[in-house]
Amino acid sequence: MSWTPIGKPAPVRENANLTDYAAARRDFSWEAERRGLSGLPGGHGLNIAYEAVDRHARGPRRDHVALRWVDRHDRVTEYTYRELAERSGRFASLLGHLGVRRGDRVFTLLGRVPELYVVVLGALKAGCVVSPLFSAFGPEPVRQRLNLGGAALLVTTPELYRRKVAGIRDSVPSLRRVLVTGDEDGPGTSALSPALAAASPEFEIGPTSPEDPALLHFTSGTTGTPKGALHVHEAVLAHYVTARHALDLRPADVFWCTADPGWVTGTSYGVIAPLAHGATLVSDEGEFDARRWYSVLAAQRVSVWYTAPTALRMLMRHGPDTASGYDLTALRFIASVGEPLNPEAVVWGQEVLGHPVHDNWWQTETGAIMIANLAAEEVRPGSMGRPLPGIEAGLLQRGPDGRALVTDGRVRELTGAGEEGELALRPGWPSMFRAYWGDRERYERSFSDGWYLTGDIARRDADGYYWFVGRADDVIKSAGHLVGPFEVESALMAHPAVAEAGVVGKPDPVAGELVKAFVTLHEGYPPTEELRLDLLAFGRRALGAVAPKEIAFDQHLPHTRSGKVMRRLLRARELGLPEGDLSTLESVP
Ligand code: AMP
Repeated sequence: MSWTPIGKPAPVRENANLTDYAAARRDFSWEAERRGLSGLPGGHGLNIAYEAVDRHARGPRRDHVALRWVDRHDRVTEYTYRELAERSGRFASLLGHLGVRRGDRVFTLLGRVPELYVVVLGALKAGCVVSPLFSAFGPEPVRQRLNLGGAALLVTTPELYRRKVAGIRDSVPSLRRVLVTGDEDGPGTSALSPALAAASPEFEIGPTSPEDPALLHFTSGTTGTPKGALHVHEAVLAHYVTARHALDLRPADVFWCTADPGWVTGTSYGVIAPLAHGATLVSDEGEFDARRWYSVLAAQRVSVWYTAPTALRMLMRHGPDTASGYDLTALRFIASVGEPLNPEAVVWGQEVLGHPVHDNWWQTETGAIMIANLAAEEVRPGSMGRPLPGIEAGLLQRGPDGRALVTDGRVRELTGAGEEGELALRPGWPSMFRAYWGDRERYERSFSDGWYLTGDIARRDADGYYWFVGRADDVIKSAGHLVGPFEVESALMAHPAVAEAGVVGKPDPVAGELVKAFVTLHEGYPPTEELRLDLLAFGRRALGAVAPKEIAFDQHLPHTRSGKVMRRLLRARELGLPEGDLSTLESVP
């Protein structure tokens, strides 16, 4: 947990949004920060989409570029705040015509295309609950999430519909309609473009309580089905404030968030936060490619860049020369989230891009950044940073199961420097999740003795910086995506040859972890290479990008006394650790 200032110390930014950390924490109040937002006209409450687009469309920023979209072929299309307000207004009007009502769940299965922004913002205007899905999911995770959330409407592309939805549509009874991008109706789908063109751009947002549900983001646990973390319109206050503090964002910025729109970062910071500030949001339809990314940074004059460790590690593999051909002088701040950021990546940012990478920490349930390395301070490579103003974090003593130890309803907070405990947060910030959709008991279990328990293990140094140690549970982080082992095991067990499966994260130098499955076969199925390849393909077809990348046959999976597969032991075997010593497991990144 020791740290050394990196290379040439980064100059402390005197003009940063947040310069005096101690004073900002002391004087902070969410209530006072609300003044940065407008609220709905006439005191009719607070609506995310109004804060993100309509208020700018009605003011001096109406002709400022809100969204700059780079398509796969590098063509750039710009949408001003006025245009985005009109288009999202059309979608909100269309929802009314389609009989989709306040509180209904509108799902998206879209890559980074302009329709994504129009649909998300339009559905929020109409008071619907928006749930964006990862477009690289296979049919099974899509089916499960649509069903868990009781989707009323899905917006996707014709191709994604054909590949991932058509085959499961009949098993999602709540799904009344599917809209597909483009001009053509298809079997079971209606075309979005003509419907939008026919709908009115004028849409007055109805009264919205800050506590009205707005966003449903699915995340994974160790057991059971995925969990739908529900966020409310009030969350926009946290998106707005944390972007100013942790990303140093200002209205004049050109901001690029590389997260996929199917994950929480892709909504909180890929849509809402930059628009709430009136900044210009860059969206790149293309997939990762080192040259492409440097060219987006350079050609779009990106000033604030929010990305992820896997992407940074992939850029690092290309060597410093690849970057040198690009003009990155517009870039002034780089931040990263989602997985442990290696200290080398922080240093590489400083040396190759001219700025250190500022790691920050949060999760689906927290809805916004909680802990961050700040622009005005020297980065501590390897540390996630310190809690933002308005956020109280703590470390709780752990019990034998690795989670916070609760005795008679009480937990013990660790106060000594370097002590390792479960990271916990005091509830009360605006973007805290308000429910796990349809699972009250699971929600309540996430809180103890006045703390929200994050499931992460961390340490804190004497200056209050937090250092990530590992997860207290078995969830896997692969290329920044949280993968629930249970979901993968269940999908594999649908194969007739599979009797049982145990799924773990195998350390990987680029993706952090790879999904690896240990599989026990039914009698009569010999463990051939052919079957292994068949299982890999079977997993890919069902699960898409979260499918196992490796499969090993194992007729003797370790079990707990109650008969559950001991994933931690499998992981220990994978790491070549002595099986008796599981305590060291969390420290392995
Ligand atoms: P998600 O809910 O998919 O956003 O994943 C949240 C989880 O990602 C956290 O609980 C951590 O386990 C991990 N995570 C997020 N940010 C960081 C970070 N800066 N360093 C290490 N792990 C992180």
